[in-house]
Amino acid sequence: MEDCIFCKIAAGEIPCRKVYENEKVLAFEDIHPMAPIHVIIIPKRHIATLMDVDAEGMADLQSMMSAAQEVARVEKVDQKGFRMVINCNKEGGQVVFHLHMHLLGGLRLKNGLA
Ligand code: 5GP
Ligand code: ZN
Repeated sequence: MEDCIFCKIAAGEIPCRKVYENEKVLAFEDIHPMAPIHVIIIPKRHIATLMDVDAEGMADLQSMMSAAQEVARVEKVDQKGFRMVINCNKEGGQVVFHLHMHLLGGLRLKNGLA
């Protein structure tokens, strides 16, 4: 996808601080972290939003969740705990329209949405 920042990161055209990678997914540090640990997990192929995930995309989501487990181990929050977030579309706060998960950790996260 032209002009998709996460496609460019996946292609190595824009640098990132990589945390984990396999053939289907890439995980990298968020450029504006909202927690001491803030990792973005993306499928390497372009899917715009959670609502665009079809049957084939479900395999990508599965890979992203597996990657999240690995990222949690790498970041040493697998036992302490962490939070996963997917923002979808405008009211969900999605800014980058390439499907991604946020893995947040490294502090005691409060319950609540804001
Ligand atoms: P969204 O609000 O779409 O769920 O989250 C997009 C996230 O991507 C934001 O937390 C933002 O800081 C992060 N982000 C946007 N552009 C870049 C970039 O070029 N590099 C990295 N590492 N993160 C980015
Ligand atoms: Zn993309």
